[in-house]
Parts: sequence; C-alpha cells; structure tokens
Amino acid sequence: MNKKTKIIATIGPASESVEILRQLIDKGVNLFRFNLKHNNFEWHKKTINKAKEVAKALNKKVGIIVDFQGPEIRVETKNGEDLEIKGGESFFIATHFIEEQKTITVTPPSVIKQIKNNEIIFIDSGELELRVINKKGNVLEVKTERDGIIKNRKSMNIPSANLDLPLLADKDMEALIKIGEMEIDYIALSFVRNKEDIEILKKLLLKINPKIKIIAKIENASAIKNLEEIVSIADGVMVARGDLGIEVPIRELAFWQKKIIDLCRNKNKPVIVATQMLKSMVNSLRPTRAEATDVSNAIFDGVDALMLSEETAIGNYPVRVVEEMVNIAIFCENNGNIREVKIETRNPTEVLVEAAVRIIKDSKNVPIKTVIIFTESGNTARIFSKYRLNMPILAISDKKETVEELALSYGVNPYYKKFQENNFKISKKLIEELTGFDFIKSGDNLLLIHGNNWMESGSTSDISLITV
Ligand code: PEP
Repeated sequence: MNKKTKIIATIGPASESVEILRQLIDKGVNLFRFNLKHNNFEWHKKTINKAKEVAKALNKKVGIIVDFQGPEIRVETKNGEDLEIKGGESFFIATHFIEEQKTITVTPPSVIKQIKNNEIIFIDSGELELRVINKKGNVLEVKTERDGIIKNRKSMNIPSANLDLPLLADKDMEALIKIGEMEIDYIALSFVRNKEDIEILKKLLLKINPKIKIIAKIENASAIKNLEEIVSIADGVMVARGDLGIEVPIRELAFWQKKIIDLCRNKNKPVIVATQMLKSMVNSLRPTRAEATDVSNAIFDGVDALMLSEETAIGNYPVRVVEEMVNIAIFCENNGNIREVKIETRNPTEVLVEAAVRIIKDSKNVPIKTVIIFTESGNTARIFSKYRLNMPILAISDKKETVEELALSYGVNPYYKKFQENNFKISKKLIEELTGFDFIKSGDNLLLIHGNNWMESGSTSDISLITV
C-alpha cells in the first residue's frame, strides 16, 4: 500500500490497548497524538512507550505528537460532575465555587478579570453560548438562551477578547520537565499567537530535548493575523478547526484552511487538517457524505496529514474509521488532482529539486518509478514532497530523528540507514542495497537526489538517474 496522505490518530481509552494500537498502525496510521488536555502525564508516558513498542514489533516507523494546551482556557465543574443548565437561567463563572449557586471555575483563573460585561463566551467548542450579564470583581454572572450540559475540562473561547495568558498551562510545564528522555517527535502547541510563542518553546526545548520539533496549531484570530511569521518559524502547522471555527466566523473556515495549506506548501512545512473529519463515526460505522467529501477536499487542497481526534480516542470504531480514511485517501491520490500552488525557489536545494521534478514530468518515455532522497535534516525530502507527485518518495537518513519526523510529510517513506563512506558514490553495493527497499524492482529507473558529502546537512547538490 503506497498511501501518501499521512494519518494521525489521537489515542485515548478507545485505542490505548496493544491490540488496537497494532491494528491502527497496520491499517495506515503514521503518527499518534497524545493530548495533554486529557489524562495525567503518567498515562501519556506509559501509553507512548507502549505505542513505540508496538511499532517496533511491527517494524514500522510511527511518529509521536504530544499536544500541549498552550494559552488555552478550560472550565472546571464542581467535583468534576456534569452541570446542567436550563435556557434563560443565569449562573456564575468565578475563581471559586460559590455556595448553593451553580458555578464553574476556569484555568487559568487570571482570565476572569480580563472578561468584560456583555462579552460572549463559548463553552465546549461552541455547544453553549453565554453572555456576561453582570461582573463583580472576580465573579461573572452569565446567561444562556439554550439548555445545555457543561462537562468538566471542556474548552472556553472568548473570541472578542484579547487575553493575556501564560504560554504554557501547568500540565504543559509538568510534561516539559519529564519529556527530556522520552521518544517524542513533535509538540503541537495550542493557541499559538505569534512567532515569539514558538521561539520561547524552542528555547525551552533546547535545554530539554532539542530534537523535538514544534507544530503550531492555528486556532485563533491572532494566529491568523501572524500566519506568515508563524509558518516561517514552526516545523509543522495544524489547521485546528475545532477552536478556529469559533475564534473566527465559521463561514471563513474553508478559506483559511486553503490559505494555510498553500502557505505551508510554499514554505516546505508539513500541514495537518484536524477535527471532525469523520466525527459521526464515533457512533456510526459509516461516515456522512459531507465528512467523506471533507476528507477528500482536504487531500485535493494538498494537505500532508489528516488527524482523527475523538474518532480514535473515544469512538466506538477506532480501527474502522482509519480504514475509511485510508480508502478515501488512496482513491483521491490516484484519481483526483491535487491543487497546484505557487512554488518559489529560494535556495540551491529548491532549484535542484525543481529541476528533478521537471525531469520526472518530462521523462514519459523513460518513466521514473521512484525518487530516492538522501537527506540529513529531511529538508530536501520536504521540498520534493510539496510538489505532490503521484510516485513513492524514499527518504534515506542516518539520523533517527529525521526518519521519525518525516512520518508527517506527504508521500515520504522514510528509512534509517547508516552508510559507511562519507563520500557519496553510486556503487554496485549501493544499487544492491537500494533494490532491497520497498517499491523498487530490478529494471526500475530511479532518480536520486543527494549531496557529494553524505552526512552533511544542506549539501544537496546532485541529481542522478540510474537503472537498477
Ligand atoms: C482543534 O481545536 O481543532 C484541535 C485540534 O485542538 P484540540 O483537539 O486540542 O481541542
């Protein structure tokens, strides 16, 4: 199976067992996401280690994403119990639970003093809409028009407010301290506001684990405003449609999805589309027509990866939903046209890769079956990937972290390989070794993109066409 669109499965109670993890990898999941919002760190650590062991036993490369809450607001209910609200009823948001009054608290509590009278507050991805009808000190009286249930730890959004919140939540800080020696590829940072947010986390990671890369979750108006600078500095980007669909008017969502994907492809950054992709499959064996079309359209837009959230974390059919996504992806990749984007060449590696793409497109009489990219940092593979050609890309690296990171890039099959010599030579031995890789058969024409000096980042200089 040469599926090119990468699939991310969020792990939770429905998928934490060895057997389900094994089936998810087997069906085509490329990365697992662990959302710090749910469960404690010990659970995440144990399950990440378990997932890694399962992948190892299957001899598959699976990346790990840990999702940090970032400057996000969460509600807390008394004793963690559901709070039932009736339409027209008023209740309180405060820093403490008020005796004999329906109250919720929030983390971080500093948010309360920044909310104004009359402001609109959304809870649980917009399930409940509240208006502040009275503010006294650190107590907000709010009212909703509709009946609803507030569950513990659900999200809170106040799109009209420009809130001053700490970059990392307490749970993020706890994870950051413990993450140093763990095998984690990406941190997804929620509610990124500007490039400084990423710079701060990068600086912290330098001391803790510099191999971990950062995915910027675009989910509020500030991130939209500072999109260019965020995409330039992040290692990957997620269109986090759950919160973005509340923080900007929902009618704008498809527009921003396309804009973010185009920008990421132009800048060689892997881009993920997330949330409610096949949501109805939490309870149903089949997706809705709209969901199946949404998944297809994200692929035609040119996404690198698609993410499943509650579908695999708490859904009834975690494996079936992956199968459905894989089927849609393979059909679309082989039958549809992925949108072309304006591609600028800004450095010698990009010029070389563009030349390689032209050779492949022009060599109809000598069809090139596979491209093989020898890469230290993964950058050359990411540049090639953005052209979304319908062919396998083999990215060979002697850096384990590069191999894991490339799990996120469209069409890239990453392999770890230690080569002996420093000087790159297309020798008989190399050709023999290449024929041992998946997708390569004797007699195939292969295009190699490489540098003269193997093991040197940024030294890509050569294109070679060989027949094996
Ligand atoms: C989102 O808001 O779309 C998202 C992916 O974030 P989370 O699942 O952490 O709410």
